[in-house]
Amino acid sequence: MNLSTFGRKFTTHSGILQLMDDLGRAMAGSGDCLMLGGGNPSHIPEVEQRFRRRLQEILDNNREFSHVIGDYDCPQGKLAFIESLAELLRRTFGWPIDSRHVAITLGSQTSFFALFNMFAGPYPDGRRRKILLPLAPEYIGYADVGLVEDFFVSHRPRIEHLDTRLFKYHVDFDSLRITEDIGAICVSRPTNPTGNVLTDEEIERLDWLAKAHGIPLIIDNAYGTPFPNIVFTRTRPIWNDNMIVCMSLSKLGLPGTRTGIVIAREEIIRALTAINAIISLAPGSFGAALALPMVRSGEILTLSRDIIRPYYQRKAEQAVAQLRTELDGTDFYIHKPEGALFLWLWLRNLPLTSQEFYERLKRRRVLVVPGRYFFPGLPEPWRHKEECIRITYSQDETVVQRGLSIIAEEARRAYAEG
Ligand code: PLP
Repeated sequence: MNLSTFGRKFTTHSGILQLMDDLGRAMAGSGDCLMLGGGNPSHIPEVEQRFRRRLQEILDNNREFSHVIGDYDCPQGKLAFIESLAELLRRTFGWPIDSRHVAITLGSQTSFFALFNMFAGPYPDGRRRKILLPLAPEYIGYADVGLVEDFFVSHRPRIEHLDTRLFKYHVDFDSLRITEDIGAICVSRPTNPTGNVLTDEEIERLDWLAKAHGIPLIIDNAYGTPFPNIVFTRTRPIWNDNMIVCMSLSKLGLPGTRTGIVIAREEIIRALTAINAIISLAPGSFGAALALPMVRSGEILTLSRDIIRPYYQRKAEQAVAQLRTELDGTDFYIHKPEGALFLWLWLRNLPLTSQEFYERLKRRRVLVVPGRYFFPGLPEPWRHKEECIRITYSQDETVVQRGLSIIAEEARRAYAEG
């Protein structure tokens, strides 16, 4: 098939495509795989119950049902939802926003595709710009969204060692250079894959740098505060008109509805609305319709705070405790889990690459993601990339427990082979 540059770029098998395919096939192949590799949120009974009630309410109301399934929303997204969300964020956090500052997309992955390509790539004046990821490891899903190659620049973090085998990454502001060819800065907070939550001070410094260079700061809030609020540290929900805050209903428990939310200044929302119209006419209505009353009443905040956050925090603590016991005596470190659904395990001086370790685990029917894939924009060799793996702890307790035991066993074996 003779394909365009776009066609080639988006169909060539990159490492990540191969890996995701591999994970998907392993899952489909047999029921006995321990899936600690994906990004699927947990099925939390109380949350599902709440959405089931709401769905029944829609089904019981003829007019609402016909509207949800039978009408296109406008390209900016469902206006009732947009207005209610802006109102909620204004009322609760004092954000100076209204409906002109919010757009809905087909999932935040789609938001990043649009936003990154709006700010990076070739410009009409002949320059090329890139997205700066100030701290790698960063979200694997960014790696391939650029319409052109050579799309990201990223930086190694500063590593702070904490007590009891924990560590934390920080943005290394000494090495951060915002050159002319940077079109926007982006961070995920909490970070997928590490569970790191950049401190309020780090965000303020990045915000200041972005403003000083006339470029936006994109904050990927897929797990963040105020919803789904899978954040175990204290953070302040912040927005200003140089920030683009990307939210999602996925990790609240609705990944199947593909609902992303972007909060940004008016001209950016107008641009995203135009892109929505061209790519999909309008974003899907379903997620916004399901969540609407919870946004109106503010229940989305209490559900996140009282059910979702404690649920994941408990799982994170159990997983860390188990690894501490079962890896005791080896040279392991765990990134301090401050949010999201993942443990980032650093097996220092592991005598295998992260890919080889992944293969060994796969043979034992345990799926994780090798660390090397989480460094978009950082092509230089760095041993650390090969010493880390991402482990998802959102699955059922028994699956996570059995998976962690096998990971610990294989790590011990690898160190012993040295
Ligand atoms: N950002 C981060 C950090 C993620 O982990 C994910 C999904 O795993 C996404 C964005 C995309 O989420 P969605 O497109 O489901 O909103």
